[in-house]
Amino acid sequence: MDDIGSDVEEIVAAIRGATHRVTVAKRTLAEVLVRATGHQTADEITHEVQKLQPDVSPSTVYRILEEFEELGIVVHTHLDQHAAVYHIARTVHGHLTCEQCGAMFEIPASHFDVLARDLRESFGFALNRHHVAITGTCADCRSLQP
Ligand SMILES: [Zn+2]
Ligand SMILES: [Zn+2]
Ligand SMILES: [Zn+2]
Repeated sequence: MDDIGSDVEEIVAAIRGATHRVTVAKRTLAEVLVRATGHQTADEITHEVQKLQPDVSPSTVYRILEEFEELGIVVHTHLDQHAAVYHIARTVHGHLTCEQCGAMFEIPASHFDVLARDLRESFGFALNRHHVAITGTCADCRSLQP
């Protein structure tokens, strides 16, 4: 079995482990998520799923994404004002987006360690490192500014 196959089987095992039903649609969605190289909106995921299984409806995809989130299989993040994007939970990282050019940078979640500790100690608050992107101005755009 290739890496993609074994990653899909791992997801299927997690679904079964939670005593949820494993359907063709869920298996297909798992495969699309494992194959994805970047961040995909629910619409993009639906498009990929339908290439493999044309009968799966967008509402089914949305429902499965919700279920996968509850099971900790995927996470979503908001890169800008647009739709949420999804990826497999084990590739969690922080996101920086540039307000000038729209570029997105993935950064190791460890960059938030100090902030996370401070927020926990000061406010008893648990930081979610990946849910919302940090916005600002990237190095390239800053170098263009006077
Ligand atoms: Zn959200
Ligand atoms: Zn990401
Ligand atoms: Zn920029």
